[in-house]
Amino acid sequence: MTKKPRILLIYTGGTIGMIKDYKTNALKVFDFSQIIEKIPELQQLDCSIQSVSFETPIDSSNMNTKYYIDIVEIIEEHYTDVDGFVILTGSDTMSYVASAISFMLENLQKPIIFTGSQLPIGDLRTDAKENLITSVEIASAHKNGVPVISEVCLYFEYQLFRANRTTKISAEQFEAFASMNFPPLAESGVHLKFNQSLIHRKSNKEQSLVIRKKLVDDVVILKLFPGITNMVIESILNTSNLKGVVLETYGAGNTPNSERFIAVLKRAIQKGIKIVNVTQCKSGGVLMGRYDTSIMLKEIGVIDGKDITLESAVAKLMYLLNEHLSTTDFKNIFEKSLRGEMTDVSL
Ligand code: ASP
Repeated sequence: MTKKPRILLIYTGGTIGMIKDYKTNALKVFDFSQIIEKIPELQQLDCSIQSVSFETPIDSSNMNTKYYIDIVEIIEEHYTDVDGFVILTGSDTMSYVASAISFMLENLQKPIIFTGSQLPIGDLRTDAKENLITSVEIASAHKNGVPVISEVCLYFEYQLFRANRTTKISAEQFEAFASMNFPPLAESGVHLKFNQSLIHRKSNKEQSLVIRKKLVDDVVILKLFPGITNMVIESILNTSNLKGVVLETYGAGNTPNSERFIAVLKRAIQKGIKIVNVTQCKSGGVLMGRYDTSIMLKEIGVIDGKDITLESAVAKLMYLLNEHLSTTDFKNIFEKSLRGEMTDVSL
C-alpha cells in the first residue's frame, strides 16, 4: 500500500462518545465530526480518518436487528473507499452486535474493529482514548499491502479479540471483555503484537463480499435453573412464531432428563423450532452424550453449540434462520464454524 490507510469511524452511541458537561455534571453526546479536535493524538497516526455517526446515537441497550442492518449498510456504502472500519458502540451489548455483524458479512477482506469504553472520552481517567487510538492503529495495520486483520474483532483494554468469541464480563473494570474459549488475536503493550497463527485469513481472495441484511429475531434465550417448571418451559416454547431457542444448559450441556422435559423439547423440535445447546459455564463447551443427562438431547435433534458464546449463538441463529435450510442442513451448518466462532474439533 502506497497511500495512507483510510479508516472510517462509525459512531453508533455509548459512553465512548460522551463528554461531561462540567456545568451540569451530566454526560452528553458530542458532535462526532469533531473527533479529531477532541483527540488530537489521532492526527499522529499514519492514516486518514473519516467519521460517520448515527443521526441519533443510542445507548447499546436499545440495540436491535434494525440497527445491525444500519451498521452493515454504512459498511457496504464505504467498503471500496476505505481500508478499515472502527465501530464505536456501547459496551453493554457490543458482543451481541459484533457477533451478528460477523455473520452478516461473508468473505470480508478488511478489518472491522469494535470498541467502546467504560468512561466517557472527556473524563480525566478515561479508557476511551487508548481503546480508540489502538483500534485505529489495528485497523490501519498492513503487511505486504494486505491488511493484517480481515475479520470482525473487538478491542478493549490492551486486547484484540475475535468479536464473536467475546462476552462482556465486567460493569466496573476497564478489562470489560473476555474471550474464554479463544486466545486474543493481538495484545498491546509497548508494542502491538499480533498472534499471526490465530488470525483468520480469507482463503479465496477472488470471492467478493456478501452482505446479508435479513435476520430472523423470533428467538429466545432459555436459561435453565434447578426448580424451573415445565409449565414455564412449555409456555416459552409455545410463544407464537418462535423459530429458535438458545438453551443455556448446565456444565457440558446437561439438562434434566425427565420424560416430561424431554417430551416438551421434542415437540418444539418437531414443530420446526431450532434448539441450540449452549453451556452456562464461562469457558469450555457442550459435549452431548457424555452424561446420561444429555444423551436424550442428542437423540431428539438438539443442535450442539460446542464452545460458542451465548451472544454468538443468538447471532448465528438469527442469521441461519433466514437461510431457509432443511432441518438436517440447519443442524449441520450450525455445528460448523462459519466465522471462527466455535472450535470445530470435539473438545
Ligand atoms: N450503557 C452504555 C452502552 O452500552 C455503556 C457503555 O457504553 O459502555 O451504551
